[in-house]
Amino acid sequence: MGLSERTERNVDLSFYEGQVPVNYVYTYGLGLEKFFRAIKDTGEFLASRCPECGAVYFPCRVFCEQCFAAIPRTFKVPGTGTVFSFTLCHLGMKGESKKKPDAVGLIEMDGAEGAKFVHLLDVKPENLKIGMKVKAVLKPKKDRRGEIFDIKGFAKA
Ligand SMILES: [Zn+2]
Repeated sequence: MGLSERTERNVDLSFYEGQVPVNYVYTYGLGLEKFFRAIKDTGEFLASRCPECGAVYFPCRVFCEQCFAAIPRTFKVPGTGTVFSFTLCHLGMKGESKKKPDAVGLIEMDGAEGAKFVHLLDVKPENLKIGMKVKAVLKPKKDRRGEIFDIKGFAKA
């Protein structure tokens, strides 16, 4: 079945073989631009708090997702957090076995609400613990480009 064909049975759609060209431009938006610009220029992490309902956002936002109020200001958070959960990835993206597993953690950021998935760096699997304090590790300033990969991951604090 080609992309332009139509089906009435969605169970018939299993996959489309071939390549689909996709051209796009991704923009961060105002809130994430502030967030990534701060990381790039100063190595600081920005959050924001809704002046109407008090919801805290990390990364910072310019409007509240709960009550839609404008959020005019940001504040710094320390770039540290606590491991809430973690897992070890023993297989690579193509299913190949890895010599050393990658550690992925769900961490609660200090000074913000909610949890974020992060790559845990330089931690031996046997030393990973729920409740462990971690801190962000950034690329050297000269190598930062204002993107998520400026954050190498989180290491034991
Ligand atoms: Zn709000």
